[in-house]
Amino acid sequence: MNTLLHICCGPCATATVTHWTARGTQVVGFFHNPNVHPLLEFRRRLTGARDLAALLGLDLVEDLAYDPAAWFADAGSWGDERCRRCIGGRLERTAREAASLGLDSFTTSLAISPWQDHDAIREGGLAAAERHDVEFLYADLRPLYRDSRRLAREAGLYCQRYCGCVLSEWERYRDSGPRTSP
Ligand code: SF4
Ligand code: SF4
Repeated sequence: MNTLLHICCGPCATATVTHWTARGTQVVGFFHNPNVHPLLEFRRRLTGARDLAALLGLDLVEDLAYDPAAWFADAGSWGDERCRRCIGGRLERTAREAASLGLDSFTTSLAISPWQDHDAIREGGLAAAERHDVEFLYADLRPLYRDSRRLAREAGLYCQRYCGCVLSEWERYRDSGPRTSP
């Protein structure tokens, strides 16, 4: 069995790769995260994914398409479905890449994070799997989250402070720091 692992940045992929390789699955990494703002943060996460790939000897496929204006144009109509659509879109792209590479399956490092919507991950992955006729590997890896943070720190990987889009950065920091108006 082989799988294309969608990687949003380095930390969550550490224990995720170990989990799947321990089960005999050959892992190829895939970076595709047009939801990350701003551009310099996108580059930091790409560097983190590359560092992780070098550390573990993974092949890493990169889709570096990055168009914040297009992302916001889409996200403006997503409303409360914003994260579900964002996750679903990235899994859709990963499934398409896995199929075009002739791989057996795909999965995502999002599945180790307690901060992500696991129903959206599971449902988005299964829908994309059906559309592209490639298996979606889902396992609830949240119990490995602390391990992934430790491994990332030990390896000196970049650790981000918010999910990705500028809205998540606002949600992360809005209640801290100086007031922005009197
Ligand atoms: S879930 Fe967050 S911390 Fe984990 S790899 Fe994705 S962006 Fe990085
Ligand atoms: S908070 Fe994270 S999952 Fe939700 S829309 Fe923003 S980047 Fe995507």
